[in-house]
Amino acid sequence: MILKSKAISAKFDIINDLRVIPILKTLKLHDNIYICALPEFNNLKGKSFYYYNNKIDLYNLKCSCEISKERYSQYKDYRDIRKTCAHIYKKLLSLKNEKRVELDNLTLLLLETQSKYGPEVLFRYSVKQKEVLFGVNEIANSSWINVYSQVKNEEGIFFRYSYNSSEKRWRSSLRPDNSTEIEEQLNSFNC
Ligand SMILES: [Zn+2]
Repeated sequence: MILKSKAISAKFDIINDLRVIPILKTLKLHDNIYICALPEFNNLKGKSFYYYNNKIDLYNLKCSCEISKERYSQYKDYRDIRKTCAHIYKKLLSLKNEKRVELDNLTLLLLETQSKYGPEVLFRYSVKQKEVLFGVNEIANSSWINVYSQVKNEEGIFFRYSYNSSEKRWRSSLRPDNSTEIEEQLNSFNC
């Protein structure tokens, strides 16, 4: 998939208008392409953690595994979520459960996706005045688009749905709220 690679390597502008999702700190890459920036874990500065045999520095988002080294050199900017490997995700998840770090539900979902399927860029839309993010894997040439949409009547709680743009179907028939309008966006979506 050709994914506007020039745009991806472009310099970031930090978006200051975060009214719609105040919990998600995003960096603008292109007209409508975003990535998630992780919060700064200041309380973890100078601390090392281990996940199996991997040494992790969560303050600097570094892990001793090969994937982390590769991604760290690729994604140099700020707190780019795409730097993270599965070990960083698992460690952050356990620290979140221990209430030692604060992470919102959407950031956790994005971390989980990233750890399972690899780096993803986000396209941001508003459907019936609700924020919807489309996630496209940067590496895999896939027809599946992740759709992060808020759960009905649960403000700020997101769920990941997946839509196959060539087969025009939802994975496991799970559809988000306002799925008709979202499908219209997805079917005109061209990355
Ligand atoms: Zn790792």
